[in-house]
Amino acid sequence: MAAPPGILEVRCAGCGETLEVEHGLTEFACPDCGMAQSLPPE
Ligand SMILES: [Zn+2]
Repeated sequence: MAAPPGILEVRCAGCGETLEVEHGLTEFACPDCGMAQSLPPE
């Protein structure tokens, strides 16, 4: 199932949870485990 426009689905490197992140964001912290994620700029 595709994510809505403007949203990226990213798998957390810490807990493996699939997170929905706003497109354009390059850094965020997982709400579950708190691990900081770095997203490749697109
Ligand atoms: Zn996590």
